[in-house]
Amino acid sequence: MTCIECPKGCRLAVNIENGRVAKVTGNECPKGEKYAIGEVENPTRIFTSTVLGQGLELKMIPVRTDKAIAKSKIFEAMTQIKRIKISKPLNAGDIIIRNFLGLDVNLIATRKME
Ligand code: SF4
Repeated sequence: MTCIECPKGCRLAVNIENGRVAKVTGNECPKGEKYAIGEVENPTRIFTSTVLGQGLELKMIPVRTDKAIAKSKIFEAMTQIKRIKISKPLNAGDIIIRNFLGLDVNLIATRKME
């Protein structure tokens, strides 16, 4: 895999045993090993999507989580946000759902909405 922690983009060779990282080579700093372990053992992503707006300037309001969540939770997140309808004006960064999915992250608006 390619480390994306900095623009250098080191090519990493990752030995995996029983679903766990046994050895990482090719990284030029410790961040590369940490990145490889995370990608193999618990991959996470910032979740980005849209929720429905009612009576606002746009019908779909862009949102994201304020921290990365496990990739395995993405489908659950998609299902959950289909139930959300926003009818009050928002500023970028406003929290739409605190402790989203019980994951200790917040779902926030990413733009101002009148
Ligand atoms: S291993 Fe270190 S130097 Fe290489 S891309 Fe990752 S962060 Fe950058």
